[in-house]
Amino acid sequence: MKLASYAARDETSRGRHYPEPAPAYRSQYQRDRDRIIHCAAFRRLEYKTQVFVNHEGDLFRTRLTHSIEVAQIGRSIARAMGLNEDLVEAIALAHDLGHTPFGHAGQDALNACMKAFGGFEHNLQSLRVVELLEERYADFPGLNLSYETREGILKHCSRKHAQALGELGRRFLEQKQPSLEAQLANLADEIAYNNHDVDDGLRYGLIAVDQLNDIALFATQYKEVTRLYPELPPRRQIHEIIRRMINFMVVDLIENSAASIKRAAVETIEDVRNAGGPLIAYSDSLREMTLALKRFLRQRLYTHYRVRRMSQKSAKIISDLFLAFMEDQYLLPPQYQEKLRLCAESEPPDCRARIVADYIAGMTDRYAIREHERLFNPSALT
Ligand code: MG
Repeated sequence: MKLASYAARDETSRGRHYPEPAPAYRSQYQRDRDRIIHCAAFRRLEYKTQVFVNHEGDLFRTRLTHSIEVAQIGRSIARAMGLNEDLVEAIALAHDLGHTPFGHAGQDALNACMKAFGGFEHNLQSLRVVELLEERYADFPGLNLSYETREGILKHCSRKHAQALGELGRRFLEQKQPSLEAQLANLADEIAYNNHDVDDGLRYGLIAVDQLNDIALFATQYKEVTRLYPELPPRRQIHEIIRRMINFMVVDLIENSAASIKRAAVETIEDVRNAGGPLIAYSDSLREMTLALKRFLRQRLYTHYRVRRMSQKSAKIISDLFLAFMEDQYLLPPQYQEKLRLCAESEPPDCRARIVADYIAGMTDRYAIREHERLFNPSALT
């Protein structure tokens, strides 16, 4: 597959923080992708919540299956558009590495705990995982990924954090764009979760087909599927609808983005970075439709009382753990106590809080539940 001139490529990469010889039989972004797949944080994604807590059912998406779906959608679009498939895949597989256990409830709870210590943000944490927290290589901390992969992982960032991030933060201060591959991974994430949350919500019985028929994106495909297959059993019907919704969004994104790339007349990745806005985008009508679907999911699914009850429990687990470790650092496992000894005299509370947050954010759902048991249930085995 020939890369478009504005795609990311090894020759124009801004390189790695610690220079390394080029890989022999792989591209730089293939190497990034491979390093991500082999890291511990990637394996933990299997036991982290996307919306539904891992133990609620074996068929729900986890962060791992979500990330694989993002990679699948991202790669299909990248190949169709002549973009760098390996880079999109690397970003997609890494984009959620910094997520706490228990999905957004966990992130919000940890952010609240960290309020006085600089806050907690999962995008920044994903970056921290690949730059610092993975300890695997002899010559550098983290995974030493290419600039473009890290640029794609850092989807959002506040001005305050951007200032502290050096080269990687500069685009947020100068209002520049990331590579098309990063823009694409971001939207592939959205296409994946909007569709699989509908699927999981229906499977769990939290939302119903009747309600979804008020949403144009769903209703159009529903009409088509029931016209073609009036007798189809519900599970197969839902899959037929969802695969059409994904396809509809993917085709719209490819066609609309190709048109805006043409209009902007970009030739290189630097032109992409300097373009006035993102070039990978849905058409206006699809943007409206996805907003309506997101609103629906927020009102009917993410705030459904059954999801809320689990969120409530998760938030309590996270804040109990945080407070316990902040109060007594000797409750932490030895390797984290070791890290605490490295905090400089001048920064103890902030430094300690960040290390506690790293420990908690790295937990899987079930590990956090067990750790909470061990600390707070007197009859639990330690
Ligand atoms: Mg995601």
